[in-house]
Amino acid sequence: MKYSNREEHFDAIIVGSGTCGATIAKELSKQNKRVLILERGGNGPLKESLIGYAKISNEIRVTNKLKDLRAFTTGGTTAMYFAVADPPPIKTFQNMGIDLTQDLENVRKELPVAEISDELIGSQAKKLGESARQLGYEWKKNLMLIDQSKFNHKNYYEVKWKARTYVEEALKNGAKLTNQATVEKVIYENNKAVGVEYTIGKKKKIFRVYGEKIVLSAGSLATPIILKNSGIKNVVDHGFYINPSIGLIGSVPGLSSGENFCGCMGGRLDNDIELMDANFHRFLFNVGMLVSAKPLRIASYPKHIGITVKVKEPLGGQLTEKGKYLKKLTEEDHRKLKKGMEVAHEILKNTGARKIFKTNLISGGALGTVKIKKHIDENLQTEYNNLYVCDGSVLPESDRVTPTLTLVCLAKYLSRHLIAS
Ligand SMILES: Cc1cc2nc3c(=O)[nH]c(=O)nc-3n(C[C@H](O)[C@H](O)[C@H](O)COP(=O)(O)OP(=O)(O)OC[C@H]3O[C@@H](n4cnc5c(N)ncnc54)[C@H](O)[C@@H]3O)c2cc1C
Repeated sequence: MKYSNREEHFDAIIVGSGTCGATIAKELSKQNKRVLILERGGNGPLKESLIGYAKISNEIRVTNKLKDLRAFTTGGTTAMYFAVADPPPIKTFQNMGIDLTQDLENVRKELPVAEISDELIGSQAKKLGESARQLGYEWKKNLMLIDQSKFNHKNYYEVKWKARTYVEEALKNGAKLTNQATVEKVIYENNKAVGVEYTIGKKKKIFRVYGEKIVLSAGSLATPIILKNSGIKNVVDHGFYINPSIGLIGSVPGLSSGENFCGCMGGRLDNDIELMDANFHRFLFNVGMLVSAKPLRIASYPKHIGITVKVKEPLGGQLTEKGKYLKKLTEEDHRKLKKGMEVAHEILKNTGARKIFKTNLISGGALGTVKIKKHIDENLQTEYNNLYVCDGSVLPESDRVTPTLTLVCLAKYLSRHLIAS
C-alpha cells in the first residue's frame, strides 16, 4: 500500500459527521477501532439564531426552481432539523436483505424516542388537531427525538437529539475529527478502496489519508458526487425524490398561543399526500416570515397557525456530467399539492384562521440517489471492496418516512457488519 506513515492509517475513515457518520464513528470507536471522521463543515457551537443558521446552512439546486437545504457542520443536518422520528420501514428493508429489528430496539433504549406529552403541545397545534379531526381527517401525534425530561419551556432547540452528541462520544473513545475537510474522491488499489483524497477549507492542496474501510456518509446529494468522481459511473441513473412541500399559514383572531415543537402531529390524506403541523416555535416562525416576505406577521406570532403539505412524487431527474442535480415536477405532482392545499385550507378555515397565505414551494428533502441491490449490496458495500455508503442516499423511495430514526438504525446495522468483518 502507498501509505508511508502508520500514524495516518485508520481502521475506518468516515466521510461526513451527520446522522449516519456520527453513529458509525461512535459504534466503531466504542470497539477500539481507529476512526477518522472527515467533515466538510466547521465545529463552532450550535446556535439557533439567524447568524448561527447562516453559518451552517447550504442549499443545492434540485429542480430549476427548488433548492434542497442541508447543514455543513459537525453533526450534519440534525443541527437544524425538527426531530420528527418516524419508525423505519422494517419490512421494506427486510425485503432487501437488511434486518433493522435489533438496531431499532437498541436505538429505542438509547435515544429519547417518544410522542410529545400533551402539556408540551402548543395551543395552536392543539387547535389545528381538533379542527382536522372535527372535519373527519386523521390527525395523530408523531414520534420525536426530544429529551422531554430536560425541557424547561425555553430550550426547544437544545432538547432535540443531535448527531453531534454521538461525534462527541466517538471523540471521547479516541476517534479523530478533521473539520473543513472536503473529500473529493476515493483512492483504490487492486479494486479495493484504500483511502480518500480531500482538501482543507478553500485551499486547493490535496491531502491523502488511508484506512481499511471507507464509509461515505456525506449526505444524499454529496455522496453520489464523490462516487462519480471516484469512477462509479451509474449513480443516480434511476433518479431521486424530493417530496415537494408547501406551507399554509393563517392568523386566528383572539388566539394566544405559546411555542411549540413543529411537526409534533399530522396525518395522511392518502399514500401520496401528507399534512403536518407547521407551528414553529418563535425563532423558526420569524425566519419563515422573513423568507416569505411577511415581516409584519412577526409581531403577531401568537395568533398564527400553520400546516405543511408534503407530497410523494415519483423517482426521476439526474446528476449531470457537470455534477448538477436536475429534476422536473410533473402536472400530477402539482395536482397532489393542490389537493393537499385545499384540505389544509379547509382545516385552517375551520380553526377560524384568516389572511391565509402560501409559503414558497420547497424540496422536502432530496433522498434515494443510491439504490440498494443495484449500486450497493445488502452490506451497503459498493462494487469496490471496503467502500461503503450509509446516509440518506440509500433510502428507498417506496416507504417514505422522516429519515433520521431509519438512518441511525441503518448506521448501527452497518457498524455491526464492519465490526464483525
Ligand atoms: C429544516 C429541516 C428539517 C428537517 N426535519 C427533519 C425531521 O423532523 N425528522 C427527520 O427525520 N429528518 C428531518 N430532516 C432531514 C434530516 O435532517 C436529514 O435527512 C438527515 O440528517 C440526513 O442524514 P445524513 O447522514 O444523510 O446527512 P447529513 O446529516 O446531512 O450529514 C452529512 C454530513 O456530511 C458532510 N459533508 C458533505 N459533503 C462532504 C464532503 N465532500 N466531505 C466531507 N464531509 C462532507 C456535511 O457537512 C454533513 O455534516 C430535516 C432537514 C431539514 C433541512
